[in-house]
Amino acid sequence: MDQNPQVNPQLSDGIAPDAILRVSHVTKSYRGVPAVRDVSFTLRRGRSLAVIGESGSGKTTLTSIALGLLRPDSGGVEYYGDARDSAGTARAGETARAGETADFVSMSIVDDHAALLRLRRESGIVHQDPFASLDPRWSALRSIAEPLRARGVPRDEAERQAAQTLQSVGLDPRVYGVRLPMDLSGGQAQRVAISRALVVRPRLLLADEPMSAIDVTARLQILDVLGTLRGKVAMLVVLHDLGIAQRLADDVIVMHHGEVVERGTVAQVLTHPHDPYTRRLIAAATL
Ligand code: ADP
Ligand code: MG
Repeated sequence: MDQNPQVNPQLSDGIAPDAILRVSHVTKSYRGVPAVRDVSFTLRRGRSLAVIGESGSGKTTLTSIALGLLRPDSGGVEYYGDARDSAGTARAGETARAGETADFVSMSIVDDHAALLRLRRESGIVHQDPFASLDPRWSALRSIAEPLRARGVPRDEAERQAAQTLQSVGLDPRVYGVRLPMDLSGGQAQRVAISRALVVRPRLLLADEPMSAIDVTARLQILDVLGTLRGKVAMLVVLHDLGIAQRLADDVIVMHHGEVVERGTVAQVLTHPHDPYTRRLIAAATL
């Protein structure tokens, strides 16, 4: 459903010239019960798109399909890879420049396994519960270095980059690098998990309710860390608060019962919501 295509054509079904990921008419049911119904959206390079909606509205199902973690029943997902970079080592800073003249190749991750692997290699994922994504036996530095090690980076270099990434999220690697997950607070563990996603310099980042499992005081730190990535890496961020979306995202889609009921820039949606459900969300938002 696209109530306002004139205002924001990039988010409608048409191909945006700076698309990095295009989800088209995706549908998914679990045992006959629809979870996502005919949803389309485009994520653009260097932009941040928030997916908002209450629990059970299909946000995780939709974003998992978008990142190739789950197969849709029908519909397509196109990933636009950097043609100069078939080895998959694109840098977030490079891809952030909108309107670049470099060629991008379109690949269907639903039909093409190599494309799916490439998207996985070039993307980072941050889950709701940081402890679920960290191995309890591994130090923070080892957890962060591991994706680099898996790509063949030698241990010393992987640990150097891991320490640098940990520092960039505000944790001193000399203090926190050696810690096990059980010796980290929720907010610190989430920053380690974010570092692990960022260390490979992803072209796009999915964060699925990255603050909801964290105590209120630490949420601001996570918000700050994710805020600094805005514009540098394409972000798909699942939230249930439109007020937070304002801090982290340029564009938004609002989901209700598996369907998109509203879309536009965050500013448009906050000031001119069309859908009654969106109006209720705005009334409940932490603005
Ligand atoms: P959200 O992330 O917005 O909370 P989900 O995508 O997790 O929503 O879920 C959408 C709907 O699909 C919900 O009704 C949920 O119960 C159902 N669902 C999600 N995952 C599964 C699953 N693996 N098996 C069966 N039903 C599921
Ligand atoms: Mg979810």
